[in-house]
Amino acid sequence: MKIRFLFLFFLCVPVVVSIFSQQSDKMMIVIIDGARHTETFGDPAHQFIPEMWGISAQGAVIDEFRNDGTTYTSRAIPALWCGAWTDIFDTVYNGSSTSYAKLPTIFEYFRKDKNVPAGDCFYVLEFIQDLWLPSFDEDYGPDYWPQFHSEGSTDSDVAEQTEWVMDNYHPHFLWVYLADVNHAGHSGNWNEYTSAIQNADQVVGQLWDKIQSDSFYQNTTTMIVTNDHGRHDDQHGGFENHGCNCEGCRHIMFLALGPNVKENYTSSQSRVLPDMAITASYILGINPASATGEVITEILNPNSVSDIEPLSMNFQLSVSPNPFDTNTKIHFTLSQTAEVSLSICDPEGIKVRSLINEIKFKGEHEILWDSRSDSGQIVKPGIYICTLQSGINNQSIKLVKLSD
Ligand SMILES: [Zn+2]
Ligand SMILES: [Zn+2]
Repeated sequence: MKIRFLFLFFLCVPVVVSIFSQQSDKMMIVIIDGARHTETFGDPAHQFIPEMWGISAQGAVIDEFRNDGTTYTSRAIPALWCGAWTDIFDTVYNGSSTSYAKLPTIFEYFRKDKNVPAGDCFYVLEFIQDLWLPSFDEDYGPDYWPQFHSEGSTDSDVAEQTEWVMDNYHPHFLWVYLADVNHAGHSGNWNEYTSAIQNADQVVGQLWDKIQSDSFYQNTTTMIVTNDHGRHDDQHGGFENHGCNCEGCRHIMFLALGPNVKENYTSSQSRVLPDMAITASYILGINPASATGEVITEILNPNSVSDIEPLSMNFQLSVSPNPFDTNTKIHFTLSQTAEVSLSICDPEGIKVRSLINEIKFKGEHEILWDSRSDSGQIVKPGIYICTLQSGINNQSIKLVKLSD
């Protein structure tokens, strides 16, 4: 009897620990500009990234992460900021010629949703005269830009400045941009290029150590490390340049560490560049309203992100036009970020179409139903029931299809 009781006790301990595990409310995103996957996690020996390879046992690596848009820095960096491929416009700001992103950025989403000052959201990079700017979006814009901290001239300087910012401001959000790998790649000198990767690798290891040795950041911070693009593979001109659609330019690294991220996990599911900011937003509990990527749920601990299935949810479901002939738009508002499903049933309750089954952010959403069933056929005229569900919450609405 005693033995059985003890056994049960030990069986229960891991469950209790996972329910009360800590959440990440801080984020550090590190961008290593222009490192090709074959020299980072795509190298079976990991010879240039011993630090990142070492700490990856504490987190998750995505083997199939790609730039799915333009493999130039000027387009890929804003896409990493926005969680979407955004237009870029030229402007003159405070007397300097520069450019800005059309869509709002994760900095703006973070500062507005959390209602925090610029000193809680830092962008650390080497000294650059004319910084690229976030958006002038009317709902976000300059009032929500990050605090730019642009000093020094090497990745090691940027690491030192990042530690200084952490010590002096303790921001919840840090974006760290490392430029040296791309510069060294463009030199065409292989040893310079690989040395720059080794140095960036050291910087990542140093910053993770800093996070885990500061009680403010320790065990409550997510770190994501990725690239804006790779470099040409040998069949398309080699490592000196980048900018085309070749595998070398597209294939990039993705490493995530932190309390919400699975440990010692490698994912082979394909993911793309805009998914990074969406996933960071999801972990922080902010809504990237204009972003287009998806949450990379497969690398997250299922129990560690609090609001996947909220206990209470306020839906506002509507359909227009209704009645309709061929297409109708289903509109809904979520009071919280959650995993939701939206489906269409016939009057007998038999499901004819599953429209979505994924995590959606709090706020407004619109889904088009083209009056087709899951097998692609146009459904018959008649009455249908549209149901939105999240966990134990659901709401239904009747819709009428008039003709084919
Ligand atoms: Zn770049
Ligand atoms: Zn290429």
